[in-house]
Amino acid sequence: MSCVDAVYIHIPFCNYICAYCDFCKIFYNKEYVNRYLDALDKEIKSKYKGEIITSLYIGGGTPSSLSLDELEKLFSILKIFKLSKDCEITIEVNPDSLSLDKIKLFKKYGVNRVSLGVETINSKLQDVLERYTSKDRVISCINNLKSNNITNINVDLIYAIKGETLNDLKEDLEFLLSLDVPHISTYSLIIEDNTKLKINGVKSIDKSLDRDMYEVIAKTLKDNNYIHYEISNFSKEGYQSIHNLKYWNNKYYYGFGVGASSYIDNIRYTNTRSISNYIKGKTVMDEEILTFKDKIFYEVMLNLRTNRGIDKEIFKEKYNANISDIIDYKYLVEIEVLEEDSRYLRVKEEYFYVLDEVLCKIMVK
Ligand code: SF4
Repeated sequence: MSCVDAVYIHIPFCNYICAYCDFCKIFYNKEYVNRYLDALDKEIKSKYKGEIITSLYIGGGTPSSLSLDELEKLFSILKIFKLSKDCEITIEVNPDSLSLDKIKLFKKYGVNRVSLGVETINSKLQDVLERYTSKDRVISCINNLKSNNITNINVDLIYAIKGETLNDLKEDLEFLLSLDVPHISTYSLIIEDNTKLKINGVKSIDKSLDRDMYEVIAKTLKDNNYIHYEISNFSKEGYQSIHNLKYWNNKYYYGFGVGASSYIDNIRYTNTRSISNYIKGKTVMDEEILTFKDKIFYEVMLNLRTNRGIDKEIFKEKYNANISDIIDYKYLVEIEVLEEDSRYLRVKEEYFYVLDEVLCKIMVK
């Protein structure tokens, strides 16, 4: 049995469509939800082999757009998974569809981590994103989560939005800090193809402002005792996302649902993005069998996103070779872009922002 111990579930429904979104999503539609959940059930039953799962992540889309009955149906489908005692169970929610009853239902089904899409509370920037929520709404969600003993909370921030100033960013950060949550994920806005922003000709902000914003975020959050543990992610000690670390540590995982991807036994599978195909049972769209070089590329690229970097002992166990025999990186240590000790090889934090450029300089021999 392959050692898969993480599961991602994609719920593609949203109550509204944001102007920047290129995720796999559709408008909430009751009839589709039912048929989708039936198809999801089938996909899981046909692929899951009974492994012990240590991380279950329900993302989207907007999982909280489902009604209480639909969420009940979803969680009863997910009962098939054998979860470890300390399994991290995360659900993504939108402040506007997170009711107290839904929080209680999450609690009943063991959800112990909630990721709340706040993005920005600046009304000028919300107009650009076409995504609206109020400060009061966010505060009430956080209070309701905490009073129901769900304290492992992530909030998402989007920055580098057209028209945003450093001051706007600082105000958003101040608000997020006031929520006193242990995890903050940040995203520099990318204008993706086929989004309303792209179609409307909205441009990205200036690159140097983007970099300044990244630095303000890193400094502000570090000054407030958040660890910059991955390029775009910050947490209090002990609150790193177990699920996302599986990806960054290049572990195997199942992905179920439309548009989801899986990585199992050196094959990356990508599911169809077409809901109608998915509902008909045509789930997998693409399979990529990784060569040795591909595997090393993913290992290095993903591991170096984190402040831990590459664990050379784990690398040796996985690939039966010393890392220095497989990739050329020593001169990046000499010029102090990478740092290396007896166990780890990592990118220095000041080079996180230019990780892509650093990766281009690392050659697989
Ligand atoms: S950004 Fe999130 S809430 Fe907005 S449309 Fe995309 S998936 Fe839905």
